[in-house]
Amino acid sequence: MLIDTHCHLFYDDLKNDLPAVLDRAKELDVTHFICVGTNMDDSRSSLLLSQTNQNIFASAGVHPHDAKNAPMDFIDQIYELMSFDGMVAVGEMGLDYYRNISDPEIQKSVFRDQMNIAQELKKPVIFHNRDADTDLIKILSEFPDVIGVSHCFSSTIETAQIFMDMGYYISFSGNLTFKNSHLSEVAKNVPLDRTLVETDCPFLSPVPYRGKPNEPGRTRFVAEKLSDIHDVSLEVIAERTTANAVKLFNLKL
Ligand SMILES: [Zn+2]
Ligand SMILES: [Zn+2]
Repeated sequence: MLIDTHCHLFYDDLKNDLPAVLDRAKELDVTHFICVGTNMDDSRSSLLLSQTNQNIFASAGVHPHDAKNAPMDFIDQIYELMSFDGMVAVGEMGLDYYRNISDPEIQKSVFRDQMNIAQELKKPVIFHNRDADTDLIKILSEFPDVIGVSHCFSSTIETAQIFMDMGYYISFSGNLTFKNSHLSEVAKNVPLDRTLVETDCPFLSPVPYRGKPNEPGRTRFVAEKLSDIHDVSLEVIAERTTANAVKLFNLKL
């Protein structure tokens, strides 16, 4: 059994076809899902999905791309959303200096506000990091009691090690399966007790579906790639990554 620890099921193509999408996931042994909010509207949609399906958990947060459009009261809204059962993490938050859709100063401010919420609520965070290692490490280190996951990890092994030393998990997505990716070498050096799997669907389909819309069942291909990299069975990858997700997010399966 596998858990897709990071998916965005509120996108129309997934939401409008959800029973079939989840059936296909089940056939691939992907049975539970964390639907991650990226702004206030879709955090609310994620909460609703978690309330209508017991295998879906949810998170509430503001993605760095959405930081510039965060409503004035987003902090209050996140606190309110986090008060419901099934809300397992704060995020998706973080920094994206690759696209810089929001000004970096706004990204940092909105990220710190959410780290603060996680610290107050003693909840894990789900963070996004693209080309922002230095500032990201600096902000995480300001909140030593907070733990969580570096989702869709794309950085170096040195950065992975710093995150792990601070108590964070490393989550791999479809880009692990891309040919010639440096991430195979990174994944080999991340112990299985710190490894999580995800799709980040509808984005980033793994091989053999690269370039097509992604869906949660394809967590399976990320897990298969990890089983090659670590030279262990798929069952071992499934057991270890599922146990990690249950522990980090305190999931009641
Ligand atoms: Zn992300
Ligand atoms: Zn995401």
